[in-house]
Amino acid sequence: MHKVILKPGREKSLLRRHPWVFSGAVARIDGKVSAGDTVHVTSSDGRFLAIAAVNPDANISARVWDWHEATQINTAFFHGRLEAAIGMRRTLFARKPDEAERLVHGESDGLPGLIVDRYADVVVIQISSAGCNRWREAIIEALQQITSARAIYERSDADVLELEGLTARTGLLRGELATPMVEIRENGIRLQVDVAGGHKTGFYLDQRDNRLRVGRFAAGRNVLNCFSYTGGFTLQALAHGAAAVASVDSSGDALGLARENVRLNSLPEERCEWVDADVFQHLRKLRDQNRHFDLIILDPPKFAPTAASSDRAARGYKDINLLGFKLLRPGGLLATFSCSGGVSSDLFRKIVAGAALDAGTDAQVIDQFHSTPDHPVALVFPEGEYLKGLLCRVN
Ligand code: SAH
Repeated sequence: MHKVILKPGREKSLLRRHPWVFSGAVARIDGKVSAGDTVHVTSSDGRFLAIAAVNPDANISARVWDWHEATQINTAFFHGRLEAAIGMRRTLFARKPDEAERLVHGESDGLPGLIVDRYADVVVIQISSAGCNRWREAIIEALQQITSARAIYERSDADVLELEGLTARTGLLRGELATPMVEIRENGIRLQVDVAGGHKTGFYLDQRDNRLRVGRFAAGRNVLNCFSYTGGFTLQALAHGAAAVASVDSSGDALGLARENVRLNSLPEERCEWVDADVFQHLRKLRDQNRHFDLIILDPPKFAPTAASSDRAARGYKDINLLGFKLLRPGGLLATFSCSGGVSSDLFRKIVAGAALDAGTDAQVIDQFHSTPDHPVALVFPEGEYLKGLLCRVN
């Protein structure tokens, strides 16, 4: 077995079982390896630390598969890991066949660089590490066996692929899919998901329960749903009796699907306004028009993937939250989210507090949000906790 030998003293994070080895910690690699090969990671004095997938040209030089020297990385290993991840969800959540769920959440399920989402009977995978890419056939075969999916579709087209030296791959891997539109049910709402053309694997499953929790506050209210995508929050708000919902997104396709979703659920279309616009500009326009709302949702895309870009991200969050607070009527609610891994919960709360202060509003936190529990966070991998949100009420 080839070895990745660390610099003296650089084994600390691995001893705490963090699954990444950064290139800066590597003294040398013994033997000629190519991306995805299985290696042993050792300390500078030759002590075994972990068995991992190597990627010699990437910033993350190795991603750990396991901590025991005797573990074999083979087809059975992947079958076992997938069965554990999917079995845990079956035991704890028992999601119905027509619902959607995250089946595998990367590092936190012991499979670095692998995301697997189930949309009813269609499974969508995203492979973003050289290690999982090497074992793609074993992974796909095991998923087919364990889930009995009607189709398995690949959406390995995330930006992070480039960092691993992988090229984008998308398309049908197993089964048949006459149309990329898959219907799912989420907390009683029917939704069309475009697994081929939608964002990520098609839909934002991490917000499932938050959509319901926020929707429950919508009865009789005038709602503004910013960054609405295909209408997840809009639909819950309408289902809970919102008086009106304006949905804003810069993707016309997403808004089109949101409209279809409203019709699919026989919800009142006449209460909907669809705005194809940049949220930053549209919020200013609403302010200038002196418009006001009772419930505003801000669920922007990732502004800061890493802590290095958190300054610029902070300005973005401050901007939209400040405008959000200004557009609320007294007693109004702001449901505000950040999915930036580089912005911690603490920092996000400080940004929101600063925005409220600058808007001249006095606000309380009524509730706090995280990803749905089928997006577990391994305690050794705090990076897995990226989504946070606050429900604020203004006086
Ligand atoms: N709330 C959604 C998920 C939002 S994802 C849900 O529950 O499913 C972020 C959305 O923001 C995407 O739909 C993207 O098209 C949109 N977006 C990104 N930047 C934008 C901008 N500057 N103005 C408006 N929409 C934007």
